[in-house]
Amino acid sequence: MRLKTYTVHNVTQAIPMIKRDLGEDALILNTKKVKIGGFLGFFQKERLEVIAAVETIASEKKDRIETIHTESESIKENEVSVLDETENPLVQKDENLDELLNELKSLKQFMFQAIDEDRLPETLKALRKKLLSQGVTDEIQSELLGKLMLVLNEHPNYTEEKIHALARKEIIKLINAHKKRPSRRKVDIICFIGPTGVGKTTTIAKIAADYLLNEEKKVGLITSDTYRIAAVEQLKTYAGILNMPIRVVESSADLKAAMDDLSDCDIILMDTAGRNYQQQQYIDDLKEMLSEKMKIQINLVLSLTAKYEDMKKIIDNFETIVMDQLILTKKDETSSSGAILNLIYDYSIPIRYIANGQNVPDDILTVTPELIANFVLGEDENV
Ligand code: GDP
Repeated sequence: MRLKTYTVHNVTQAIPMIKRDLGEDALILNTKKVKIGGFLGFFQKERLEVIAAVETIASEKKDRIETIHTESESIKENEVSVLDETENPLVQKDENLDELLNELKSLKQFMFQAIDEDRLPETLKALRKKLLSQGVTDEIQSELLGKLMLVLNEHPNYTEEKIHALARKEIIKLINAHKKRPSRRKVDIICFIGPTGVGKTTTIAKIAADYLLNEEKKVGLITSDTYRIAAVEQLKTYAGILNMPIRVVESSADLKAAMDDLSDCDIILMDTAGRNYQQQQYIDDLKEMLSEKMKIQINLVLSLTAKYEDMKKIIDNFETIVMDQLILTKKDETSSSGAILNLIYDYSIPIRYIANGQNVPDDILTVTPELIANFVLGEDENV
């Protein structure tokens, strides 16, 4: 990210400078009135300090902070000064890009919090309220509102509808910028992990039915969820209805044998025990089970009814297991969808499906950026 501070007469004066220096994607993070010049505190002039930023590609290692004044005590009107990068203590941390990015993240958050609610244009207040009610993080709000403030500065007459449409576009852009493309590699087995009760087994049945009915694939099922008799029975019931072979496994040797048994299947889906994800033993058991040399796609299943902080804890707890995709369930039980956007922004793990009900096989949606934008903006509530 590049960050620049301009001291100008008004925002209109700063906009062409921001565009010239930081490009079209730049956003205004904050504005505040400052007093400059004068003598012994007298004859000071009031100016506006505008802080603008633009994301840059991390690998370019271009991150830096520059300060530009169009007017100050020692600088004449419209003269521009750029701080030498080596003078800037933040720039010296360029070696440690992560640390620098974290600092900028908190700075961005701090600046967002400093945006005076009363100074937010009316057209953006409703949007901010919506994002807040959906549980979208401050950081994402700051990015979206900052971009829209920049647009509104140029087009103050834009209506709330127009701003809403632009917000939708920006959300889609944000998702596309943060989401990793799902891997297309061929896998031997698709494995579903996650806390107990989130809907893993139900979701597996929905996905299995989709492969069978819509893609005409031969699907095999495996479950290692032997901790609950009911869980095995539940998957067996679905296997019976869908006429699919099923194997129950308790060790990596069992798993190898089951894979051999199901070798004529096009796709194998595996349910796992949903024990307490906070128990290291659960993670270790999973790793041990999946240690066979096979191409595994790991799907972490999380319920949207959980608090975002708890979802983060779960993902962080699984950090030693490489996750390929996320599946979110129980969308029908919550009206707040911000976590979907937050997860993409914070973790960049592709979200493949959103389950929105208990009905097998119907209550599952394939995720697109447009669908997420609709959810976050409170549209398609009935989906
Ligand atoms: P598991 O322990 O993770 O395998 O969870 P289950 O598949 O057994 O599901 C636990 C409960 O959540 C069951 O009552 C399911 O019917 C219910 N469930 C699963 N997915 C959804 C969903 O998307 N929406 C709602 N409302 N309930 C769901």
